[in-house]
This record gives sequence, C-alpha cells and structure tokens, in this order.
Amino acid sequence: KLGNETAKAELGRSSWHLFHTIMSRFPETPTADESAALKSYIHLFQRLYPCGECAGHFGEILKRYPPQVGSRNAAAGWACHVHNVVNESLGKEVFDCAKIGDFYDCGCAEDEEGGTA
Ligand code: FAD
Repeated sequence: KLGNETAKAELGRSSWHLFHTIMSRFPETPTADESAALKSYIHLFQRLYPCGECAGHFGEILKRYPPQVGSRNAAAGWACHVHNVVNESLGKEVFDCAKIGDFYDCGCAEDEEGGTA
C-alpha cells in the first residue's frame, strides 16, 4: 500500500515536470498546427495517464478548464492553474504561478533561435 502511494507520487512528480517543461518550451506565437498538437497532447496525456483514478479526476478538470494553447504564456499559466486544482484537491500548497517563468529550465538553450550556448 505504502509502496503504491510512493510510486503514484513519483509518477506524478515526473509527469508534472515534463508537462510544465513542455509548456515552457512551447512557441510564444505558435502556428495553428502547433496549437492543435499541444491540445491533442494534453488530451492524450489525460487519456493515457497510467494512474486511472488520477486520469479520471484530471478529465473532469479538463472539462472545467479547457486547455489554453494560443501562446506559451497562456499554456504555461493554464498548466500551472490546473496543477493547482489538483494540489488543492489533494490538500497541497498552491503554487505561485507568477513564479513559473524560469522555474522549468530544460537546459535546451542551444535550441533557441540564434542561441550560441
Ligand atoms: P507535485 O504536485 O508532484 O509537484 C512537483 C513539483 O512541481 C512541486 O514540488 C513544485 O515545485 C512544483 N509545482 C507544484 N505546483 C505547481 C503548479 N501549480 N505549477 C507548476 N509547478 C508546480 N495523486 C493522487 O493521489 N490522486 C490524484 O487524483 C492525482 N491526480 C493526478 C493527475 C495528474 C494529471 C498528475 C500529473 C498527477 C496526479 N497525482 C494525483 C499526483 C500528484 O499530483 C502529485 O504529483 C504527487 O502527489 C506528488 O506530489 P508532490 O507534493 O511531490 O508535488
């Protein structure tokens, strides 16, 4: 039982890490195709999330707060908000979304246009 809870929490931490990092790297001004890709990714992430109970809860959250995929800022802010909805439902602290800016640094600066790092 305890092992199950530890595994579920570990899966959650790694999943949120990837989720927020994807938002932080989403284009600031995406094409329609890029926005559509992010929207499908979010819905498939929910549908295929390995913890069924979590996937069920998250599906309800997506209905209430549909993915915002119009820009990097919109996507990152939306993801922070829905993570906070999960935090609240689990009795966890709410994260200050104003701090999301450089919190998720993937070390991918060399991919930036014109970047030399
Ligand atoms: P996590 O919530 O995993 O967060 C990891 C780190 O992200 C934090 O330490 C903090 O630095 C940062 N962070 C926190 N809040 C935010 C935010 N709003 N925006 C950006 N960064 C933030 N567990 C269940 O028991 N029941 C569920 O129904 C459930 N549903 C889940 C649904 C999804 C889609 C996911 C991805 C996970 C779900 N989990 C669920 C797991 C749960 O959300 C946590 O991941 C797990 O409990 C570990 O929590 P944690 O306290 O280590 O921090």
